[in-house]
Amino acid sequence: MSIVFYNKKTVRDIDVNGKRVLVRVDYNVPRDEAGNVTDLTRINGTLPTLQYLLRHNAKVVLMSHLGRPKGERNLKYSLEGLTPILQRLLDVPVAFCPDCVGAEAEKMSKALKEGEVLLLENLRFHKEEEKNDAAFAKKLAKLGDVFVCDAFGAVHRAHASLVGVTEYLPAVAGFLLEKDLVMMRKLLSDPARPVVAVMGGAKVDDKIGVIKNLLPSVDRLLIGGAMANTFLYALGYDMGASKISPDYVPLVRDLLQKDVAKKIVLPVDLVAAEAFDANARHRNVSVARVPKGWTALDMGKNTIRTYSAIVESAKTVIWNGPMGVFEMPAFAKGTEAVALACAKCQGATIVGGGDSLAAIDEAGVGYMITHISTGGGSTLEYLEGKHLPGVEVLQNAR
Ligand code: AMP
Repeated sequence: MSIVFYNKKTVRDIDVNGKRVLVRVDYNVPRDEAGNVTDLTRINGTLPTLQYLLRHNAKVVLMSHLGRPKGERNLKYSLEGLTPILQRLLDVPVAFCPDCVGAEAEKMSKALKEGEVLLLENLRFHKEEEKNDAAFAKKLAKLGDVFVCDAFGAVHRAHASLVGVTEYLPAVAGFLLEKDLVMMRKLLSDPARPVVAVMGGAKVDDKIGVIKNLLPSVDRLLIGGAMANTFLYALGYDMGASKISPDYVPLVRDLLQKDVAKKIVLPVDLVAAEAFDANARHRNVSVARVPKGWTALDMGKNTIRTYSAIVESAKTVIWNGPMGVFEMPAFAKGTEAVALACAKCQGATIVGGGDSLAAIDEAGVGYMITHISTGGGSTLEYLEGKHLPGVEVLQNAR
């Protein structure tokens, strides 16, 4: 597997005593319709770094994105709601600044005392963030004396708070980022075989490249979720009203012609429903018999049995993306089964992506997984052997 080797300085390697430490975290957390945070995995993941900094008398300034406000101030995506959560988890005062740059943010960052925390408003309220705008990065850099990146979930993006800011401040890794990189390298640079990758979710676009690049290095690739619908459709099955990605059918068809495609395992049966609805009438059908107008929302019983057996007997498993519409209990069985199979597997298991983590959490088997990665897209890009811009810019360890 073409895992990129990084050897970066971390917060352990620099003096943070009395300094304002600007930390890029990934608090792009799942929330319910009322805006309540429903899963703390990403916040909890940053606690070791934050507690270390506070113990060493740093003044901590936190910055993150949340959702896709598209460069506009939209309070639906405000990070303010995280303030009491952080205060409770860290047990120190946490102030909130309603903007991530500007005079007020600078004043608040300078007023911080040692052992205190300031949370900045959503970075993506400014369109300059995603453009890696130099002037914006410079404004962010005014809020700290050193920069720490602990946002593994975001390091595949060359944004101002990840890349631009490092032009102006000494930049090192946090413990969460370090852990993700070290664990992936340990488990995947010379993985125990067979290596089984399990990929699900809805979007084919961001995963087709990963599939292509991953196929030569894995022994089996199990495909589920709506992505499997596109593969089955490309093979000529009538998928009824199932979600597919029509634009990618030619690419998938092309891939399926290749010799390595023999490693791909697809569902043989599905749970098809009359409508995309939690209470819709549904039944187990063969992939060749999706009723007209029905939609496939989960993998079927026989597929669950096969996929579970392959995962359980693997020596290395990499799982990313749900096997069906797991948010609806009637269509969560395939995803639950993969979570349990990962737990039963005697080999190394690496699970990434918000939905897979939620399934692992729901099944209560997180402690049985070798490495739970907070990254989704970044995990996939790393597995593809791509460089991560947000990691490359950090100072090298000697
Ligand atoms: P992604 O962001 O690509 O990982 O996709 C995650 C989403 O895929 C989840 O919200 C699932 O509900 C959805 N999904 C998985 N399987 C299906 C399916 N068969 N039909 C429609 N949506 C699906």
